[in-house]
Amino acid sequence: PTRDQVHNFAAGPSPLPGSVLEEAAQGLLNYDDTGMGICELSHRGKEFKAVIEGAEADLRKLLSIPENYTILFSQGGGTGQFSAVVLNLLSAHRLKNPVPAQEFKPPVLDYVLTGSWSSKAYAEAQRLTLPPFPNCPAFAEPRIAASMKSEKWTRLPRKDEYSFSKDAAFVYYCENETINGIEFPHDPSNEAAFPFESVPEGVEIVADYSSSFISRPILNIEKHAIIYAGAQKNLGPSGVTVLIVRNDLLVDTTEASKLGCVPHTPITYEYKILADNKSLYNTPPTFPIYVSALVLKHLIKDKGGLEGLESTNKQKAELLYKTLEAAEKKGKARLVVRDENARSWMNVTFTIEGAAEEEKRFLDGAEKKGFKQLKGHRSVGGIRASIYNAVTLDSVKLLCEYINEFCT
Ligand code: PLP
Repeated sequence: PTRDQVHNFAAGPSPLPGSVLEEAAQGLLNYDDTGMGICELSHRGKEFKAVIEGAEADLRKLLSIPENYTILFSQGGGTGQFSAVVLNLLSAHRLKNPVPAQEFKPPVLDYVLTGSWSSKAYAEAQRLTLPPFPNCPAFAEPRIAASMKSEKWTRLPRKDEYSFSKDAAFVYYCENETINGIEFPHDPSNEAAFPFESVPEGVEIVADYSSSFISRPILNIEKHAIIYAGAQKNLGPSGVTVLIVRNDLLVDTTEASKLGCVPHTPITYEYKILADNKSLYNTPPTFPIYVSALVLKHLIKDKGGLEGLESTNKQKAELLYKTLEAAEKKGKARLVVRDENARSWMNVTFTIEGAAEEEKRFLDGAEKKGFKQLKGHRSVGGIRASIYNAVTLDSVKLLCEYINEFCT
C-alpha cells in the first residue's frame, strides 16, 4: 500500500509527518544544495551547527523552556536516561554533601511507579546503586514512593497514597506510561495533574516525558530538575534523546567520584560534558537530529504550535475514548485504564471482550482496512492505539467507525 492508504497507530517508533519525510529524503541526498547529504556533512561544520542550534531554539520556543535550563541532545535512548539521571543527580547530591566517606549516608531515591517504564527505571536505579563491594554501604537507596502495581496499573495513586522522603536526592515519575496507557491529567485544577507539590524542598523532581513530549504543554517545567524524552514518538526518528536540565545540575561527575561513595559516570552520559560541548562532545546522531529539527519547524509553522497540537490531540483522544466507552457499555470492549482522569492522550489501551478469537478477528479486520500496529505491547497483550502528533484526526475518525462497526 501507499502511505495514504495506511493509518499507522504504532507506539514507537511512531509515524512522522509525510511532508517532513519528503524534505528529509531530499536532505539525505543533497542538503541545501551542498551536493552532499546531511549524513555526509561534518557534525562540526556550519551546516549541521545551524541544524542543531535551530532545533534547540525551536524547542525552547515551543515548550517555553526557561533560560536557566539547558537543552541537550544525547544518545542511549530513554533507557540510557534511566541510568544517566541516577549518575548525574547522585553526583550533584554528593558534591552538595561532601562529608568524609566514613560519614556518608546513602541518599534515598523516591520512585513513583505507575507502569512498566517507571518500574524499569526503578530497577535500573536499584542495579546501579548496589554496594561496590560486600559489607560496604550502597551508593543510594531506591525506594517506592507510590506504586499502582497491585492494581495492574489501571489508575494513578490518590494524593494520600504518595509518601515522599524528606531528604531524598530526587523523586522520579513517568508522565505517560506508553505500554499501559496511563498519563497524569493535564488540567492544572485537577489535583492529580501534578501531585508533587508536597515533595519536600530541596528534593529534585525528574520526569520521563518520552511518549508525551510536545503533545501538549508541560505543566510546571520550573519545578523539575530534569525532563527527558526519547525522540521516537512525537519528535523524530529513534536515536536521539532530548534532555532539559536545570543549569545547576550540570556538575563535574569526576569531582564527585573523587569524593567517593558515588557510582562513576561514563563520559557520554555526563550532562556537563554534553552541555560544555553543545551536545557535540562526540559524533551525535545527525540524521535523527536533522529530522527532529524539521518536525519542530513543521509543528510551529503548520500545526499551530503547542496550543494547536494540544487542541487536536485532545479531540483525537476524546473521540476515541467516547467510542470505546460506548463499545464497553455494549460489553464488546473494555478500556484498560479505569480512572478516566488518567487515560493517556497518546496511547489508548483496551481489550476486545468475548471469546479469545475476537481480538484476533478485530486485528485482522483492522489490518484489512489499513489500520496498522494496533496490537498491544507483548508484555500486556490487548489492543493499543497510539495516536501521536502525526496521526491525524481523520485517521482516528476512521478507526472509530471501524470500532463502532465491529462492536455493534
Ligand atoms: N520511557 C518511555 C515512557 C518509553 O515509552 C520508552 C520506550 O518506548 C522508554 C522510556 C525507553 O526508551 P528507549 O527505547 O529509547 O530506550
